[in-house]
Amino acid sequence: MAHHTFFGEFSCECGQSWKSENTYPDKKQICFTCKTWIFPKYLRPKTPYQGRYRAYGWFYCSDCDNEWTSHNSWANMGQVCYSCDDLIYPYRQVRPKCGKGNPKTPHFRKYCEMCWYLKKNCKNYNPDADTDTDTDTDSDDHASDYNDDDRYY
Ligand SMILES: [Zn+2]
Ligand SMILES: [Zn+2]
Ligand SMILES: [Zn+2]
Repeated sequence: MAHHTFFGEFSCECGQSWKSENTYPDKKQICFTCKTWIFPKYLRPKTPYQGRYRAYGWFYCSDCDNEWTSHNSWANMGQVCYSCDDLIYPYRQVRPKCGKGNPKTPHFRKYCEMCWYLKKNCKNYNPDADTDTDTDTDSDDHASDYNDDDRYY
């Protein structure tokens, strides 16, 4: 999907280097030292899962030592830490066996980047109904360690 950004690292010929959480592979950023526009040197996906389906995600905010999980975790989408309002990306994701989010657990739009992007709750979102023609790069479908006792958003 075209809106996806990466963690990017830039390294300018003048010696200046910087990191950006909102890096597009085909977009340059300006060097603040010499005012040259350069492409990113390294790109890292924001989430372990890169397919287009819903995943079960584990999140950890190191500032607050706050950990949570979500049935509605998506590729390159983060969720907000409820205690510090920082946008956190999942450090681990698995594909649940059923494609739908768990209907018994609440999911709050204000904490979820995917909900902001869709402008509706992502809980009932079906990527197969989307007209987006992205090919699904997901191949490993191991969701055996599915833990229902955790806290959800
Ligand atoms: Zn420079
Ligand atoms: Zn936090
Ligand atoms: Zn959501």
